Amino acid sequence: MRIAPDPLLIVGSIAFDDLDMPSGPHRDVVGGAAMYASIAASTLARNAVRVVGVVGADFPEAFLADMAARGIDTQGVERADGRTFRWHGRYSEDLGSRTTLDTQLNVFADFAPKVLPAHRSSPLVLLGNIHPALQGAVLEQVARPKLVAADTMNFWIEREPAALSEVLRRIDLLIINDEEARQLSGVHNLVRAAAEVRRRGPKMLVIKRGEFGALLFDDQGTFFVPAYPLEDVRDPTGAGDSFAGGLMGYLASHGEPSPAALRRAMFFASALGSFCVEGIGPARLLSIGRAELSARIASFAKLVDYGGGLTLSS
Ligand code: AMP
Repeated sequence: MRIAPDPLLIVGSIAFDDLDMPSGPHRDVVGGAAMYASIAASTLARNAVRVVGVVGADFPEAFLADMAARGIDTQGVERADGRTFRWHGRYSEDLGSRTTLDTQLNVFADFAPKVLPAHRSSPLVLLGNIHPALQGAVLEQVARPKLVAADTMNFWIEREPAALSEVLRRIDLLIINDEEARQLSGVHNLVRAAAEVRRRGPKMLVIKRGEFGALLFDDQGTFFVPAYPLEDVRDPTGAGDSFAGGLMGYLASHGEPSPAALRRAMFFASALGSFCVEGIGPARLLSIGRAELSARIASFAKLVDYGGGLTLSS
């Protein structure tokens, strides 16, 4: 008998993205960290994801209705007067890097996340990449979660170091990329950078390295999961958020977030990230079925199955 997943509260941006890809432009693509993370999490933790964010009057109600139909609780999405947050990015020819051409905060500028009374006891919380003071404000509104994970970015590391330090002291798991880990710690070597970040608060740290996989650092040591080798990558937007959503979605649906569960969750996180990049915006994520997900996880297991016997012969 499958037990019901633990509710997972996800806070973050909801956006219209304008994406300049080498294959051509894509306009008004629904995105944002909260969207990617909640869609990814919902593939593993059905009827357990609660999303908190803000949209403007221009945001399609039908998209929110589709999310609700997937079992995502969208009651915490505020509808504000004005326009939805908008991000415009351009990717390099090899999709390896991207430049932000424009960010319009719009309704996001005055966003003060409100956690609904019914969501305050969520045992798992994922704080997407928003102002660290707002991440802190969310933590003020929830009652002692089992696990709090957070993301951040270079912008906050540079501009809001005090508020970010405060958040670091209050979270269990930080999920960032290698550049952010280096910037946050002031240390280039990732192993030393991880030790420094963990010293500042989060007991667990995941460092994402794009196509080079991801590292987990916790009290049990260091763990690595590769990125799934794909022939066709179409759009890396939201891969990091899908990774975080997949990780937390797995933990939500598998009981206690033990070190062993966290290691298994890393594979699901990487699998969700790999699906995300196969489509433009969240399109591919929205199309994954259980069978496809199981097949990718099985391919992952095969990818790292060395057959045992790694000892040196005498
Ligand atoms: P990722 O590719 O995982 O870094 O996430 C990309 C998503 O982050 C896009 O869908 C954007 O809408 C969103 N985004 C970009 N800039 C910001 C920002 N300053 N604050 C919050 N979300 C943002």
